[in-house]
Amino acid sequence: MKVLKERILRDGRVIMPDILKVDSFLNHQIDVALFDEIGKEFARRFQKERINKILTIESSGIALAVMTARYFHDCPVVFVKKANSKIMDPHAYKAKVHSFTKNNDYTAQCAKAYLGPEDHILIIDDFLANGAAVGGMLEICKQAQAHVEGVGIVIEKGFQEGHDKIVSQGIHLESLAIIDHFENGQVVFK
Ligand code: 5GP
Repeated sequence: MKVLKERILRDGRVIMPDILKVDSFLNHQIDVALFDEIGKEFARRFQKERINKILTIESSGIALAVMTARYFHDCPVVFVKKANSKIMDPHAYKAKVHSFTKNNDYTAQCAKAYLGPEDHILIIDDFLANGAAVGGMLEICKQAQAHVEGVGIVIEKGFQEGHDKIVSQGIHLESLAIIDHFENGQVVFK
């Protein structure tokens, strides 16, 4: 997606050997017009799939999923929670996930009321690195017996393991910008 790649080149900052910071438009401040284009593009790429619900993970995935859902008919967004709380439904699907950026483990949770065998799911997330976050959502879908129709990623780091983990399961993966490597602090796309 040309406009996204241009934005990454303009505003992205390589802050560690394998981490890209895009806080100015994606992870902290949100460029709503760009998110709208992203949503439209995901809808175009997954138009042949039968999707009735979008699943994402808090927090950065939520706005992306919402903007995508606008381009599907009658398609709610469910987001997996990372933190436990007193109001979290005790009847929940759960999966252990390793956070790539925080380097710790958390329990991803989704209340049983919002996911079930009748659901055809599009999973959306901001980044794909080693595939743990998507893996947690796939595990939750498995527990719910929901059908995963596809995974949509905004920025895939193609030099990490996530891509192969997803496609080796026969899942339709679409990434809008695929990074081949970082070179002298610059992003090089595939
Ligand atoms: P994975 O679970 O695939 O290893 O990592 C994906 C998750 O970690 C994403 O949900 C995202 O929040 C975070 N993440 C992984 N790599 C990066 C990165 O280079 N930059 C940012 N901002 N987040 C990342």
